[in-house]
Amino acid sequence: MDLFEHEARDLFERHGVPVPRGKVATTPESARAVAAELGGSVVVKAQVKTGGRGKAGGVKVVHSPDDAEQAAEDILGMDITGHLVHQVLVTEASAIAEEYYLSFLLDRAARTFLAMASAEGGMDIETVAATKPGALARIPVDPLTGVDTALANRIVKAAGLPTAAADAVCALWTVFTEEDATLVEVNPLVLTTDGTVVAVDGKVTLDANAAFRQPSHAGFVDSPDENPLERRAREAGLNYVKLDGDIGVIGNGAGLVMSTLDVVAAAAAEAGARGPANFLDIGGGASAEIMAAGLGVILDDEQVRSVFVNVFGGITACDAVAAGIVRALALLGDRAAKPLVVRLDGNNVAEGRRILVEAAHPLVTLVDTMDDAASAVAKLAAAEPEA
Ligand code: GDP
Ligand code: MN
Repeated sequence: MDLFEHEARDLFERHGVPVPRGKVATTPESARAVAAELGGSVVVKAQVKTGGRGKAGGVKVVHSPDDAEQAAEDILGMDITGHLVHQVLVTEASAIAEEYYLSFLLDRAARTFLAMASAEGGMDIETVAATKPGALARIPVDPLTGVDTALANRIVKAAGLPTAAADAVCALWTVFTEEDATLVEVNPLVLTTDGTVVAVDGKVTLDANAAFRQPSHAGFVDSPDENPLERRAREAGLNYVKLDGDIGVIGNGAGLVMSTLDVVAAAAAEAGARGPANFLDIGGGASAEIMAAGLGVILDDEQVRSVFVNVFGGITACDAVAAGIVRALALLGDRAAKPLVVRLDGNNVAEGRRILVEAAHPLVTLVDTMDDAASAVAKLAAAEPEA
């Protein structure tokens, strides 16, 4: 999960990374009050989880509480690449002498961590990497030994940063490991005119797989711009990703669902339907309640015209899954108003099919193979709705 800049700033502060003093404001009046408290010269910054705020006019350096109020007035409500600004961070302004770039990230391809640093900070780092590859130092970080003073010195030296930046580099590594981040990026890390080093901007991505040992992260919420269906699914503990098509997909096991998406996409192309409307893995031991929650999310997706339930019975056998589908449809009642194609296979498949045949739900079609089921569900999605 990506954090807002002000959340990153707070984590930095907690781990000893020098950051400017600052507070979040949601109204121009409170931005003015924060500016007065900080002494007048402040930066008013849009809080959105997207880059290039500066270029979009979402970062303003001002020199009085009056101007801070006006800047907040201008920035609040702004749309920055599809992200609406609901709050601004007001920080004391730094007198900048130089701007650097520093990041730690997980380098999956190399199976290690990576430090990237450059004396060409402030601007878009992808541009620096593309136009002046020599200006971006890349130093692998061994996860077992991490970043000690010696390595921090090596990183700043390789990038042409002043030695004074090494302490901030060490502290940022502490943020990366202690908070279970997969990315910590500071652009710019600045050298002020009086020689101190300050992290003026911060981007942090936390590893959601570590949430169990990071209770304090529960307070971070994902962007309010999150798709409402995805939010509902997440709150129900479902593994759901919204896609663009018209065919809802439910399966048990991520691998099965991934291959179902491929088969559905191919069948949709043939039948003239649009393709999968979502990824939804209800997991191995899915109960009727989970099936109902998943079906509910999919049936409430206005783009969905037909639904493919593709289940391979394993530890939870097909009869339990079939009973779950029947109970889920009963729980949903009138909300279940789109055709369902169900393909069951695996453990206890005969009994599972018998349960569905006996229930004889008018919206359910039982199909034996995955390919046939995919083409049936695609034809249903492509068909003209009955008058
Ligand atoms: P971004 O555009 O989202 O990356 O926002 P940043 O927080 O990185 O700010 C963009 C640019 O605004 C920085 O590269 C600086 O040039 C400038 N800026 C940000 N904070 C300050 C500050 O405290 N003082 C001054 N003088 N400039 C700042
Ligand atoms: Mn920046």
